[in-house]
Amino acid sequence: MQEIQQAPCPGGLTGTPSLPVPDREHWGVDYQGCMGTMQSPININMAKTIFSPQLQPIQLSGYSLPANEKLKLRNTVVLELPESLAITGGYAQQYQAVQLHLHWGSLLGPGSEHTINRCCFAAEIHVVHYNAKYDSFKEAMVHLDGLAILGAFLEVGPRENPYYHQEIPEHLYKIQREGEEVLVPGFNIAGLLPANLKLYFHYNGSLTTPSCYQMVKWTVFNQTMLLSHDQMSVLVTSLRNDDSKPLQNSFWLVQDLHGRQVLASFQTTLLLVKQLPSGKEHIATGHSSSSFQAGDVLAVLFGVLFAIMILAFLLYRYKHCSQNAQLDLPTKFKVIYVAATTDNTM
Ligand SMILES: [Zn+2]
Repeated sequence: MQEIQQAPCPGGLTGTPSLPVPDREHWGVDYQGCMGTMQSPININMAKTIFSPQLQPIQLSGYSLPANEKLKLRNTVVLELPESLAITGGYAQQYQAVQLHLHWGSLLGPGSEHTINRCCFAAEIHVVHYNAKYDSFKEAMVHLDGLAILGAFLEVGPRENPYYHQEIPEHLYKIQREGEEVLVPGFNIAGLLPANLKLYFHYNGSLTTPSCYQMVKWTVFNQTMLLSHDQMSVLVTSLRNDDSKPLQNSFWLVQDLHGRQVLASFQTTLLLVKQLPSGKEHIATGHSSSSFQAGDVLAVLFGVLFAIMILAFLLYRYKHCSQNAQLDLPTKFKVIYVAATTDNTM
């Protein structure tokens, strides 16, 4: 069992990292599939990711659902999705949606499953899809190209996130007990994911719950979603398990890569911190050193430009003064005044 590193955890409700230990040690015993060498989640070491220009932007289709289409929301914050939602770009094949769900921690600690440079986030959303060439999710999950999951990190931000305001949190109080479910009106599911679907990490892994099938082509977005402190508090405190205890720390710890490579759709070394509107932010975590270096380069660049401008200005002044100096003396003597009357032939 690996431990979550004591790393700064942006978005943690208290800002204090904790060491939650979900009761999942037995999974490997009860489910042999969870003992494999391609398990998820993983830590993504940005410096070791491989830039792959072949990774095209993820394209979604049918993600905006009308309110009259009802979706089943279960106590584990699993929202069933119709198959009309699909990934139509970014993967070699088309994948259709099955459900989305969330992983979270507690008021005391973060709850993302994946980590970036050993840095964890308050929560994580997963949208599960299966390959459209198979007849069902069940059939797809035994094939290597069977499943595709889109993952994004949730952090605490300065304001409410409108996409997370009504659609899920306001229904949580109706499904507080294990096994309870409620129908929620359809909404724009894409709003739960980052706006930027171009920047992401990609690797081959598994489901993070039993059966732990290793048939998942993972996409973990670089851009995170920002929720208000209150929104995140509702998420981590509303639900109860069958012992009436808070349903918290619903994540599995990161697994060994076992030599797997993590691809990136962008050059991580060029990544700069960029705050975006609408509660979405690029990950700069982990690579604080890279953003720091980028800032240094910019400072030096501006310094050099400033020095060149000063030099150019001094040169201009020098040349201008020299010309004036050369012109001054002769002109004083070359000026020939022509009396108006001279040309006045009238
Ligand atoms: Zn999940």
